[in-house]
Amino acid sequence: MPTNREIFLQNIGQTTPNPLNIEIERAKGIYLYDTDGNEYIDLVSGVSVSNVGHLHPKVVEAIKKQLDHYMHLMVYGEYVQTPQTQLAYKLSDLLPEQLNCTYFVNSGSEAIEGALKLAKRVTNRSEIIAFKNAYHGGTQGALSILGNESLKNAFRPLLPGIKHIRFNSIDDLKEITDHTACVVIEPIQAEAGIILPENDFLKKLRERCDETATLLIFDEIQMGFGRTGKLFAFENYGVVPDILCLAKAMGGGMPIGAFISSKENMSQLTFNPMLGHITTFGGHPVSCAAALASLNVILEEDLCNKAEENGKLFEKLLKDHPAIKEIRRTGLMLAIEMKEEGKAFEIISKLIEKRLIVDPFLFNENSFRIAPPLTISKEEVVAICDKINQLL
Ligand code: PLP
Repeated sequence: MPTNREIFLQNIGQTTPNPLNIEIERAKGIYLYDTDGNEYIDLVSGVSVSNVGHLHPKVVEAIKKQLDHYMHLMVYGEYVQTPQTQLAYKLSDLLPEQLNCTYFVNSGSEAIEGALKLAKRVTNRSEIIAFKNAYHGGTQGALSILGNESLKNAFRPLLPGIKHIRFNSIDDLKEITDHTACVVIEPIQAEAGIILPENDFLKKLRERCDETATLLIFDEIQMGFGRTGKLFAFENYGVVPDILCLAKAMGGGMPIGAFISSKENMSQLTFNPMLGHITTFGGHPVSCAAALASLNVILEEDLCNKAEENGKLFEKLLKDHPAIKEIRRTGLMLAIEMKEEGKAFEIISKLIEKRLIVDPFLFNENSFRIAPPLTISKEEVVAICDKINQLL
């Protein structure tokens, strides 16, 4: 019998020639443990998933409770299922009135696919505008709007009618016209290396979309659920999108995504054609139960405010290191940009050797990411920063 590591490399589809290849036995809070009993600190949260920490007891309890009732029953949208209704009700309670209707899906990419289809259906237009250096997922529609050519070229032809404009360029907003169905934007660009909107860019984008009756889609798949110091990233900027895409941290560690809009918009997927989006497992009852529990934990444990406080502390403790050029931050997500170009990969490997899990950004090779679970304590932040400063 081959070892698990051999099977991983041989019988599981790989994404890169050099996966991290750490064999994890269990995880709890901000810690991961490998099969040799080594303890790692998770400073990535499974890429912005484990906002409430690994295996939060309330999430585990909700999952177990749901398992006593049912798992999958029927394709999405037919039966009334309590975990879905309670989660949708809670979301609509927390979101502005124009985001009162949730379509549950399986992943971030599927949320983007659903949002693009909804925008085409609502506006009866097909042109889509997205941003350079944006990441929206790996399916063909999401890939089409991704703002980096090197990840797309091997898979063409992709969707036609897509333009990419520059994030934070007011000038480029004139590309949005009354032919544009939608503009898809991460309100804070994640994989570009934490690029924050400047000079009321999102407000001006909202205005331009209103002038041209274009739908504004916010991809908060990576930034939602407390990561930015607010429950949703758009709350930082006073701009409400027409469609909000969520996933990742939504399920507290279980797979789930959603695109959310008004009831009026969403009804467009029910006729001409009926079944405008079909998903079998979308809004899986166990994932919804976990998602509601996770959302309650974020609120009850005040994780949004904690994210901001501990994010600030990370910044304060790291920013003066002479090897660091700049820190870009939102809440508890930091891009640490190194002075020496092309150095980030080496630093990431060294930190992982010291059992601090950090990772690179897709589109920024001079920075690395720090985005631990929002449950991290101040004492843990101080100890981690000590270790990082020593290693740098
Ligand atoms: N959008 C953003 C901003 C993301 O970061 C990701 C995943 O990293 C996605 C969309 C795609 O989500 P998923 O991997 O769940 O399909």
